[in-house]
Amino acid sequence: MFALDTFAPSITPEALHDLKAAVQGAVIVPGDAAYEERRQAWNRAYQHEPALIVVARSAADVAAAVRFASTADLPVAVQSTGHGVIRPAQNALLIVTSEMKEICVDAATHTAWIEAGAQWGEVLVLAQAAGLAPLLGSSPNVGAVGYTLGGGMGWLARKYGLALDSVDYFELVTADGRLVRASETENSDLFWGLRGGGGGFGVITGMGIRLYPVTTIYGGNLLYPVEDAREVYTRYREWIKSAPDELTSSIVLMNMPPIPQVPDFLRGKTVVFIKAAYAGEAEKGAQYIQDWLDWKSPMMNTFQAMPFADVATISNDPKDPSPSLSTGGWLRDLDDETIDTLLAWGVSVQGSSPFTVVEIRHAGGAIARVDKHANAYSNRDETLLLNLIGMTPTPERYQTAQEYGQAFKQALGDHLTGGVYMNFMGGEEARERTRDGYLPENFARLQALKTRHDPQNRFRFGYDIPPAANSN
Ligand SMILES: Cc1cc2nc3c(=O)[nH]c(=O)nc-3n(C[C@H](O)[C@H](O)[C@H](O)COP(=O)(O)OP(=O)(O)OC[C@H]3O[C@@H](n4cnc5c(N)ncnc54)[C@H](O)[C@@H]3O)c2cc1C
Repeated sequence: MFALDTFAPSITPEALHDLKAAVQGAVIVPGDAAYEERRQAWNRAYQHEPALIVVARSAADVAAAVRFASTADLPVAVQSTGHGVIRPAQNALLIVTSEMKEICVDAATHTAWIEAGAQWGEVLVLAQAAGLAPLLGSSPNVGAVGYTLGGGMGWLARKYGLALDSVDYFELVTADGRLVRASETENSDLFWGLRGGGGGFGVITGMGIRLYPVTTIYGGNLLYPVEDAREVYTRYREWIKSAPDELTSSIVLMNMPPIPQVPDFLRGKTVVFIKAAYAGEAEKGAQYIQDWLDWKSPMMNTFQAMPFADVATISNDPKDPSPSLSTGGWLRDLDDETIDTLLAWGVSVQGSSPFTVVEIRHAGGAIARVDKHANAYSNRDETLLLNLIGMTPTPERYQTAQEYGQAFKQALGDHLTGGVYMNFMGGEEARERTRDGYLPENFARLQALKTRHDPQNRFRFGYDIPPAANSN
């Protein structure tokens, strides 16, 4: 009991006993054998130190945990995988959803029900078995719900839009411990806000989403040496001007780490990737890639017709837990000055840049065809999304990356719009810059929603959307 007393004196042994009796899942306190493992986030740069962990098995468990938190006056944090930690859970009740993994695909209606702990890769396997595709992102290990709450931009984004635009309903436990449904017809205010506004309005227990008839794509990578970088960028700028919605792509400047896992010919080098997925006939996809091959032979070309089930090979994101910092913003343009700045700050010369990845994703297409007020998501006209990712194994490296990231963005100046994509904002910056994620009128609406549904700011570990007259 000593450790629990220290973390949360408001929790009595009797209350804890009752909670354990009420939930199917595990209730874990500091000092328990499982505590160390269960408090870990995939992104090891952030350390949760919760007063209490409830590993929920069902919506009823989530509701019991939220009611317990209310009685004990504890704030509530939620984690499915820990890919997107914003504010680590300190002295809070951490609800872990990773064991809530039910996935039901309905092949007839092209829809699926996904519980809160499902990872995209798990949804992908079942959806593909029915000839359908979910709007997953670059990594199959990311949680479907967490990804969707902040946007959800994957390799089908220009064709079918953001994941949040394909949600039919959410089920969630609100701050007062009720399990409710939010859709166009029930609790429509919450439905509006959850699509882009993050996890600050309740604990999502699952969601109903739409799926799309995609089983094969033409996708892969082209790889060029850093010496060609400037020309690759200028060509990319022209190439995406005529890109159809079927073609979702990105350009990635990558400082390959000097580690044995990286093949010899890339180890310690800076290279430029063109990554793309064409969601249509392979022959047509190949024609778009031919533009590049006609210009120059790349160091590597992995483009081919591939099962959509293999889409994760395009980004090849790390699977194992790794400590990292993610930041970025929307670029206004990719003119020569922008390219010069990206190269000056992005290319690491003898470790000058702490960022391994400088990626620009091409948005637009179906994303831009949804009304800006249809839901909370606000960056629909912007088409060039910059994401900087640095590996940060120590707090010092994290700080260096933070400072370098700030200076990098300052150097880009007005070439950045000032807006941000919430899913790519890591850590405290996601809170500091929450307003930059939204149109002012959408942010005001989110704040009103927060005031109505969570006036105590019980869910305060996500984006900073303080209820009126209360910011914790
Ligand atoms: C390797 C990698 C690849 C990525 N690729 C993409 C990509 O291609 N496109 C893209 O758009 N984003 C991408 N992201 C960003 C990712 O979508 C966000 O980090 C997202 O928040 C991760 O969700 P999660 O549930 O896995 O993480 P978690 O850390 O478990 O959750 C993140 C946050 O989501 C909220 N949340 C999660 N579950 C719930 C719930 N049930 N109820 C209420 N709130 C909840 C909480 O606020 C939580 O702090 C990527 C991130 C990484 C690390």
